[in-house]
Amino acid sequence: MPIRASTPAPGAAPHIRLDLGAREVPLRLRRNAKARRVILRLDPTGEGVVVTLPPGASEDAAVDLARREADWILTRLERRAPRVEFAPGARIPFAGRDHLVTWTGLMRGGVRRDDGFLAVSGPREHLARRLGDWLRAEARRHILPLVADKAAVLGRRPGRVTIRDTRSRWGSCAAGGDLSFCWRLVLAPPHVLDYVVAHEVAHLAHHDHSPRFWRAVDRLTPHAQGAKAWLHAHGADLHRYG
Ligand SMILES: [Zn+2]
Repeated sequence: MPIRASTPAPGAAPHIRLDLGAREVPLRLRRNAKARRVILRLDPTGEGVVVTLPPGASEDAAVDLARREADWILTRLERRAPRVEFAPGARIPFAGRDHLVTWTGLMRGGVRRDDGFLAVSGPREHLARRLGDWLRAEARRHILPLVADKAAVLGRRPGRVTIRDTRSRWGSCAAGGDLSFCWRLVLAPPHVLDYVVAHEVAHLAHHDHSPRFWRAVDRLTPHAQGAKAWLHAHGADLHRYG
């Protein structure tokens, strides 16, 4: 039972350059056998839109919808902040706090977090990859003990925990008990990470979203309501980084 993000997953879907007059907007198509109608959303990368097509709908239907919604698309894209690459001078959130990325230029490769700074050493051309690897490792380091502690509260054994870059879900729990989390949660305030872990661990006991499931979540974290509101308001923003 995944926690859905407010934005859809990208696939290997075709890209269309959509001319909306004021600007060209990339449009990505997704096919979804379960979709009942054509659905338009902003792309989680912040650079365009995604249109989900139900079976039988044509690409023209996607383009038609996007043209009808041109004003909405342009307004929303303008309001949305641009993508932030991992580079010296970038400001990226970590555990909900802004950090300035710096490059120390030292030959030994590594990342040091120090009072609002993420200092990356090693060759400049490896900075983005190195910082990305470090953030994934930090996500793992934060998430594993939370999983262990919360699973123990419920008397359940978690399966394997994997850290991914999922765009459509923050976490998931497979039927066999394997858990998966999006590394970007380490960018969010700690109470948000705590909630997502609690949510997926609670699925070890209840594979649904029943009242019993939500009672289990509340046993595992005091942050469910606040974290859900935070993800709704800011979750898509976490996909701008890196
Ligand atoms: Zn769920």
